[in-house]
Amino acid sequence: MTRYEAVIGLECHAQLLTHSKLFCSCSTRFGDPPNMNTCPVCLGLPGALPVLNRSAVALAVKAALGLNCKVNALSQWARKHYFYPDLPKGYQITQYDRPLAVDGSIGKVRVERIHIEEDAGRSLHEGFPDSDKYTFLDFNRSGVPLIEIVSCPDIRSSDEAVDCLARLKEILEYLDVCDGNMEEGSLRCDANVSVRPAGEAKFGTRTEVKNINSFRFVRKAIDFEVHRQIEAIESGERVVQETRLWNSNTERTVSMRGKEEAHDYRYFPEPDLPPLLIDDDTVKNAQRSITEMPEARRERFVRDYALSGYDAQVLTATRALSDFFEETVRSSGQPKLAANWIMGDLLRSCKDSGQDLKDLSRSAVSPAMLGELIRLVETGAISGKTAKTVFDEMTRTGKPPAAIVEEKGLFRISDPDEIERLVDRVTAENAKTVEQYRAGKTGAFGFFVGRVMELSGGRADPSKVDDALRKKLAGR
Ligand code: ADP
Ligand code: MG
Ligand code: ZN
Repeated sequence: MTRYEAVIGLECHAQLLTHSKLFCSCSTRFGDPPNMNTCPVCLGLPGALPVLNRSAVALAVKAALGLNCKVNALSQWARKHYFYPDLPKGYQITQYDRPLAVDGSIGKVRVERIHIEEDAGRSLHEGFPDSDKYTFLDFNRSGVPLIEIVSCPDIRSSDEAVDCLARLKEILEYLDVCDGNMEEGSLRCDANVSVRPAGEAKFGTRTEVKNINSFRFVRKAIDFEVHRQIEAIESGERVVQETRLWNSNTERTVSMRGKEEAHDYRYFPEPDLPPLLIDDDTVKNAQRSITEMPEARRERFVRDYALSGYDAQVLTATRALSDFFEETVRSSGQPKLAANWIMGDLLRSCKDSGQDLKDLSRSAVSPAMLGELIRLVETGAISGKTAKTVFDEMTRTGKPPAAIVEEKGLFRISDPDEIERLVDRVTAENAKTVEQYRAGKTGAFGFFVGRVMELSGGRADPSKVDDALRKKLAGR
């Protein structure tokens, strides 16, 4: 293993968050009944003409800028030909030698190019009657807008590949250009993998692994492929340049086809569409629409709110979560406490209720409510323990904390008379222990405190209980 070094480049497809398809007005909605969202254009019927969806272009430009690319003022649509049942036109409209954008970066991994293209339909082989005999075709996905992001071969391990993909997913989600849902295929990734002897400058022969649809599988597929290639070389074989498929059941890659060369696709400029012109205004508008990127936001959280790097990382997992945190800070004025509540109780309750962290707008607890709860503890109106009860009640009912405290009578007891009454009762009920205490068994003090707190339902002010008990037990 150590005598070889892996070289990896990723090709990622991201579905753009448009309502309609790239070249027709059919809906892009996921999960609709098969073939519901189709028309002559996306079914590839003869004579149907594509009309470009400008909002797809705007999102693609935004993604390109967010990935630090240079956007080309002129890019060209191209036909990429291949036969497959889910590609009825016999070609895919994509971009080839003049892509939308070039020369970007995802952390330290360089991005070679980004181009816009249409998705193909879906071939379904399972879950239908006679599915051992037939392939079923769903063209709802046909013509859905994608960007393909091609990285340079700068990645050296499966860890780095997963990290790169995670950053990409996060950036696209923050930009609101892609929902990043890997299970639904909104973000897909092919890995190009080769190995070379450590210290060698020349790259080895690569294979391209397709069909990887989760972070876990990216890691496993790359690790498998690296080992397979090293073993092949060690036993005197050659690595064949080919396209391989990741099989998540056997956890192996299998050869799918010999690697096609560009000329196999007979690329040529798409005659039905003019070149894509992106003017300065489009770029400027896209630039303006870009809010703070996750990396910058993390740094600011550490700097402005004195959070640890770890806390900042957790709190910026999604844009919705980091917005939630900042609004809670604004409402409570307590960054550290806000962070603790969100990282502990809020995330736990989200997990229990299956709440999506990308959209917290339907969460029962709002930042204003959490801020109010924090202030109730800070001003001493309720105890920290009571606050937990109030939080649970908030998640259940969606009621504001002050209302819950009022309704359930949860205010902290700090009235000296009331505390004295509690102390009197506890000492009267435990006369023997009081005697022993006075005879020198002072270890019983904690017992008395515990009893008073219990009697008050955790609401008594502990320092006042302490004072009152000392007085009482000293016989004063
Ligand atoms: P295509 O797949 O169309 O042939 P490219 O030749 O541009 O396209 O390469 C696609 C991907 O393969 C890129 O992500 C690139 O970084 C990666 N790549 C190229 N050469 C190697 C190599 N020797 N080892 C690993 N990855 C490579
Ligand atoms: Mg490729
Ligand atoms: Zn259509």
